[in-house]
Amino acid sequence: MATPSKISPTTLAKLAKLGIHHRADLLLHLPLRYEDETHLTPIANAQPGMTVQVQGVVTHSEVMFRPRRSLVCRLMEGHEELTLRFLNFYPSQQKQLAVGKQIRAIGEVRMGYFGLEMVHPKCRAADDDTPLQQSLTPIYPTTAGLAQPVLRKLINNALESIPLTDTLPAPLLKKLKLADFGDSLRLLHNPEADVSATELEAHNHAAWRRIKFDELLAQQLSMRVHHRERSKRIAPALPPHAKLTAALLKKLPFKLTGAQLKVWQEIAHDLALAHPMQRLLLGDVGSGKTIVAALAALQAIENGYQVAFMAPTEILAEQHYLKLSEWLVPLGITPVWLSGSLKKKDKVAAAERIATGDTLLAIGTHALFQASVEFNKLGLVIVDEQHKFGVQQRLSLRNKGDEPHQLMMSATPIPRTLAMSYYADLDVSTIDELPPGRTPIVTKLVSDARRDEVFERVRAACLAGRQAYWVCPLIEESDALEVELQNAIETHQQLTEALPELNVGLAHGRLPPAEKAAVMAAFKAGELHLLVATTVIEVGVDVPNASLMVIDHAERMGLAQLHQLRGRVGRGAAESMCVLLFMQPLSELARERLKVIYENTDGFVIAQQDLQLRGPGELLGARQSGVAMLRFADLTEDEDLLEQARLTADELLRDAPDVARAHLQRWMANKHDFLQV
Ligand code: ADP
Ligand code: MG
Repeated sequence: MATPSKISPTTLAKLAKLGIHHRADLLLHLPLRYEDETHLTPIANAQPGMTVQVQGVVTHSEVMFRPRRSLVCRLMEGHEELTLRFLNFYPSQQKQLAVGKQIRAIGEVRMGYFGLEMVHPKCRAADDDTPLQQSLTPIYPTTAGLAQPVLRKLINNALESIPLTDTLPAPLLKKLKLADFGDSLRLLHNPEADVSATELEAHNHAAWRRIKFDELLAQQLSMRVHHRERSKRIAPALPPHAKLTAALLKKLPFKLTGAQLKVWQEIAHDLALAHPMQRLLLGDVGSGKTIVAALAALQAIENGYQVAFMAPTEILAEQHYLKLSEWLVPLGITPVWLSGSLKKKDKVAAAERIATGDTLLAIGTHALFQASVEFNKLGLVIVDEQHKFGVQQRLSLRNKGDEPHQLMMSATPIPRTLAMSYYADLDVSTIDELPPGRTPIVTKLVSDARRDEVFERVRAACLAGRQAYWVCPLIEESDALEVELQNAIETHQQLTEALPELNVGLAHGRLPPAEKAAVMAAFKAGELHLLVATTVIEVGVDVPNASLMVIDHAERMGLAQLHQLRGRVGRGAAESMCVLLFMQPLSELARERLKVIYENTDGFVIAQQDLQLRGPGELLGARQSGVAMLRFADLTEDEDLLEQARLTADELLRDAPDVARAHLQRWMANKHDFLQV
C-alpha cells in the first residue's frame, strides 16, 4: 500500500471525503485523540471515569435480553472482576469473548449494575507474552467504511516514504522555540508512551504548536504575496487637487473628527498611487463613514475618473444617493441612480450615461455589477457594508480602462486576530471615534411577558416628540421572507391598535421600492412616530430624531446584527434607549449574546466576544466563500503564534525568499490559495 496506485478506488473515494487527495495530505490528517495501549492496569486499580487497558480471562459470556439485547461478559484477573457489555455485537465478537479466552480490553470504566464495567470496550486476544504497544494509538477522524487500522497504515506509510525535511532553518526554529517539523509530525501520529495525551488532545503540545505555526505562516506568506502582487498592477493615479474636496468640506455643517481626517488622509494618499488601492474602512455605526466616502469620490472625480458607489440594499443605496446628491449637486456633480427595481427603460438610460462617461458618479445596488453596465473610465469603486457582498460580486465590475481603486466600508468591526489573518491582504483604516454630541444609549432587557409596558414607553417617547423603531426579527426558515413579512404585518396591526394616537408606518423587504422609499421618507420627515420594520433597516439608516429602538425577539438575532440595530438610535442629542424584548426560555447561546450586548457598547469588544461565541467561520460571512479556513490554528487561542507568524513572514520575504517559497509550496501546493480572488 506504499503507493497511491495500490489503494483501491473505494478507499480513495473515502479518503477524498476526508479531504485527502494527495499522499502528502495524509501527513496532515492528524489524530483527534489517542488510546493508551502501552501498559496494563490491574483491574484492582481501575476506577470509574478512567480509560484503561486491562487483561484477563473470560469467565462468563451470555446474551441477555433485558433491559435490551446485549452481550455481557465477565473478565477475571486474579480475584478481581470486571463486566464487559456490548449493545451491538457480531457473532465473531461472541466467539472472541467465549469463556476461557484470554483478552485485553480497553475502554472507559464506569460503575454499572453489575459493579465495575466497560461498555463497548475494544478487545483483542492476548496473553502475558503479547507485546504492549510502544506508542499511544492515534484515533483519526474518519468516515463510514474506512477503519482506523487502514487509515493508520496509510498514514504511517506516508510518514516513512515522504521526506519530512524542515522548510524552516534551524536557527530560526531555535529563536522561535519551535520543534522540528518531521519530529512534530511523527510525534503527533505515534506519540511515545510518556507523552501526555491530554496536552496532545488540547493542541497545546509543542508538536501541535509547530504545525499550527506552519499553517499560520503559510497563510501570512500567501496574504503578503497577494498584497505584493497587487502593488505591481496598474491603476490610474488620482492625486488630490483639493478643489472639489475643499469645497465640500467648507459647506458641511460639521467639522470632521480627528479620526475621519486621519482615514481620509490615508485614502487620499493611496488614490494618488498608480496601483490599485484595496482599503477597508472600518468604523462603528454612526462614526461617519459616508462623508469620507464622498471625499474619496470627489478626489477621483477631480481627476476626471468615474466612481461606482454601491450598497447592499435599496434603502441604503437610496439614502446614499440622496445624501450625496445633497452634498454634490451644488458642486456641479449629479449622480446617476441604478438599482434592480428601475424600469427597463430607465436602467438602459442609466447604463448609457455610465458607458459614455456622461456621469462621473453612479450610486446603486449590485445592479451596478450587471453585464449590461460598462464603465467608461472607472477610477474608484466604493462598497458600503462590504461584508454583505460576496467576494466575487465585489470584483466583477466591468471597466474599459485600468483596474479601479477599491474602498470597502464596514461597520462590523473585525477583531484583531481576524484582521491580522483573513484580512491581511487588505489595508485597513479605522475610525475609532464618534462625532461629538452623541448621548450614550441605555440598553434594557425586557421579557416578552412585559410587552404592554414597552408599548407605554413607546407612547410616552413619541408623545414627547421623539420617534421610535420597532424591529421584527428575521426568521431563519426556508420561507423566511413570508414568515417575516407576516410577522411584521401582525406586529404593525397590534401596535396600531394599541397606540391609536400615533402614526405607525411599516417597512419590509417585500414592499415595492417606491413605497418603501415613501415610508422611509415620511419617517425621516417626522410624519410617522413609529416605524415597524423588518431587518431591512439593519444597515445604514440615519434618522437622528429616532431615539427609541425596540427589538422584538432579540434572542433570535446575532450579536453583530443587534449592535447594528442599536446603532440606529443615539444619533441625536436626545437620550436614547434600546429595548431588547426576549421570549423565554432562552438558550445558553442566546443568554450569552444578550448579556454581551447588554454589558457592552463598544463594537470592537462585541466583535471580539462574537468571535469567541461563534468562531471565525461565521464571522467572516461572505468573505469566507473565497477564503480557505484555518484547519489547525485557532484564532481565539493562538494569537501569540499568529503574531510570531506575521513577523516571520515579513522577515522571510525580505531576507530568505527561497525559504518562503518552499514553505508555501509545502502548505499550498495542493490547496486552493488562501485567497481565491
Ligand atoms: P456610518 O459610519 O454609520 O455610515 P454616517 O456616515 O451615516 O455613519 O454618519 C452618521 C451621522 O453622523 C450622519 O448624520 C452624519 O451626517 C453625521 N456626521 C458624520 N460626521 C460627523 C462629524 N464629524 N460631526 C458631526 N456629525 C457627523
Ligand atoms: Mg453607513
